[in-house]
Amino acid sequence: MPYFSSGSIWCASALVMLVCVCESTICWVEADERERNYAATERYYQSILNVNRPESPNLAALTQFFSLMPKGGDLHHHYSGAIYAETFLDWVAAEGHWIHRQSLKIEIVKTRYSLTVAQLRANDALYRKLLSTWSDKDFDDYYHEERPPDAQFFSTFAYFGPLASRHIPAGLRTLKQRALEQNVQYLETMLASVEYARSDAEVDAQLWALQKQKSEASIREALATFARKIDADPKFVQTVKAFVKKITADHRGLDDQRFTMRYQTYVYRDMAPSLVFASLYAGFLAANESELLVGVNIVGPENGVIALRDYWLHMQMFQWLRAKFPRVRIAMHAGELTLGMVRPEELTFHIRDAIQIAGARRIGHGVDIMHEANSLELLQEMKNKRIAVEINLTSNEFILGVSGAAHPVTIYLRHGVPLVISTDDPGVSRNDLASQYTLLAARYGVSYAGIKDLVTNSIRYSFLDERLRQRHVAELKQRFATFESKVQKFTEGAEGGEGAAK
Ligand SMILES: [Zn+2]
Repeated sequence: MPYFSSGSIWCASALVMLVCVCESTICWVEADERERNYAATERYYQSILNVNRPESPNLAALTQFFSLMPKGGDLHHHYSGAIYAETFLDWVAAEGHWIHRQSLKIEIVKTRYSLTVAQLRANDALYRKLLSTWSDKDFDDYYHEERPPDAQFFSTFAYFGPLASRHIPAGLRTLKQRALEQNVQYLETMLASVEYARSDAEVDAQLWALQKQKSEASIREALATFARKIDADPKFVQTVKAFVKKITADHRGLDDQRFTMRYQTYVYRDMAPSLVFASLYAGFLAANESELLVGVNIVGPENGVIALRDYWLHMQMFQWLRAKFPRVRIAMHAGELTLGMVRPEELTFHIRDAIQIAGARRIGHGVDIMHEANSLELLQEMKNKRIAVEINLTSNEFILGVSGAAHPVTIYLRHGVPLVISTDDPGVSRNDLASQYTLLAARYGVSYAGIKDLVTNSIRYSFLDERLRQRHVAELKQRFATFESKVQKFTEGAEGGEGAAK
């Protein structure tokens, strides 16, 4: 051991060299091992996808695969729609409130129809009825009296909306816990609207008239005048400040090394223009003030009477507010429509206007892209501008009846438009991210490399700040290495290799 017996510079540099050689060897061995693990995982994935017989993928094995696989983030996710009805009932019981035995609504004041949650749970038929009324449960798998699926879906929120708002800290912790268990490291959830309301009949009449004339400059002027009126209302800033303060308090303690939660605020689209603008203005101001609020959205059925009539006007409002608050990012529910649901001309411009007028960075759903005017050019623009589309397969199948080969997911993939896979309302739809990847893989045969790219997109196209985004990309890489190492060990150990699991 001559090199180590002396304190000379020569000895020290030799030691450094040795360590360097060792380190690079370790790296090389590690890289080699990672590649082997990746290859084994890819082979196993192809075997359960049954690539030679694509009509019969192994759904159970795919479900297991995607349950264990790291899934990055969920970027199209509604807070209240993510909580299960069973959890809402726990909260009703904790509040000491009741359920009306006929309407199945929550009762704050006891009546002769009131049932405690314990009484409800003891009545199996009624309990089941509540679960299928407060969510989409049992809608498809047996015959019973049903309303149209989109009406069923949107009606559920009236049962638990206020309850969900009263229990935000508990709700967020429930969602975090579930995310950790499902190997999800980031949630960007649509949490709440800023409850600032200002109705102005004169402004409504003026904006409707200007919308008819498609007079953009006059609309901007009208919005500026209305905004000055709102600014003069001391309640406006107070309401926004209180909203930001509450989110900051509700968020406390949620983020850690394994998990991050961020929020979007939103406006409800089926209201008169003055109400939409006032609420949206408050949302933009809140998002501008808080680092936790990373984006603004618009929600509610896109085929609603007002939502359809004022779509273009709403996009003008987003444009005006984006100019005032350039830091605030926009994700937009757009193109959640289908032929027959609305008149054909309504299908031709929503995604385009969301991008070109409102400046949306991500599109929620985008199901009617094939009906857009000049859809080829629009797809090219989405690719060039890196506008990601949030794909919600279960939700689109349930609400719109669009699935399988009718879904435009393959169009987006073919045109190189970035996609993210999301759940939308996992409590109401009773789904999870793994089920969405299973549907994607089974229906469209996406390769393992393609799946990994989509998972990475869920961090890449998130509205996280740059530092956190980089940290989460690195974390995701590490999680994939662990996952692939596990799959490799499993396939190595399985009798007959990975083919045995076909
Ligand atoms: Zn949604």
